[in-house]
Amino acid sequence: MNLGITGKWALVCGASKGLGFGCAQALAREGANLVIVARGDEALQAAAQTLRADAEVPKGTKVEAIAADITTPEGRAKVFGFRKDFDIVVTNAGGPPPGDFRDWDREAWMKAVDANMLTPIELIKATADGMAARGFGRIVNITSSAVKAPIDILGLSNGARSGLTGFVAGVARTSKLASANVTINNLLPGSFDTDRLRGNFAGAAKKTGKPVQEIMDARMKTIPAQRFGNAEEFGATCAWLCSAQASYITGQNVLIDGGAYPGTY
Ligand code: NAP
Repeated sequence: MNLGITGKWALVCGASKGLGFGCAQALAREGANLVIVARGDEALQAAAQTLRADAEVPKGTKVEAIAADITTPEGRAKVFGFRKDFDIVVTNAGGPPPGDFRDWDREAWMKAVDANMLTPIELIKATADGMAARGFGRIVNITSSAVKAPIDILGLSNGARSGLTGFVAGVARTSKLASANVTINNLLPGSFDTDRLRGNFAGAAKKTGKPVQEIMDARMKTIPAQRFGNAEEFGATCAWLCSAQASYITGQNVLIDGGAYPGTY
């Protein structure tokens, strides 16, 4: 299926590796021009090179890499200084650390809310009206399955991302955006084999003294698909949500978790 996004400009945040990179790759393979963002310049430039050299990316597709912390006003100014009129925006940044709510002070909360709620809102604010004026826009927020099925030690994530989810539910349904072919959806990963997930398992292994592989196997057994997801399949779903064909899908929370969420709705 041709997704109808050749030549569109996509901003993909948190894209030097993991799920963000998966989204960037899938969009570039559909011919979308990219601005990819991460803080670490070396890994980001390497990611850009991989995309430019990808045989499945159509010739002429542009890939720009901007090293910036997307959770800061300065970082966002750097990105929008390069280009303002994005057709596609994938919001993403690192998730907050796990822990016990008794240990989180105002600073810890503000950091989580800034990264996982206010930053996507700022990115939507900066791009949605321009998209509406041009008659095409796709915004995908990478959130977490924890929005639907909260995980106790991820309280910072549960809280901040639920705030974003509530905001998106309202703004996506404003007729000014929805009637102008601008959609805003959230993509909710379950367990994906990325550095972040492996880092979590390494932490659990240290705490419990169990081998990492044993912890990973135990987690996999809880997932009906009996495996972790990979960034490529995550990216493919993201690209589909950004397609011309997905114009009637907005304000949704799309779970991608191998069947791990046990509810009907
Ligand atoms: P990852 O493998 O650690 O990759 C994170 C990417 O985001 C890197 O490119 C990182 O590069 C970049 N990044 C982090 N903070 C940034 C910032 N402030 N500004 C710009 N770029 C930033 O993580 P992932 O597994 O792909 O996860 C992506 C998101 O999905 C996270 O919010 C995570 O909590 C959420 N999630 C993941 C899973 C999973 O199973 N993997 C499940 C549920 C939710 P730099 O560090 O160089 O900036």
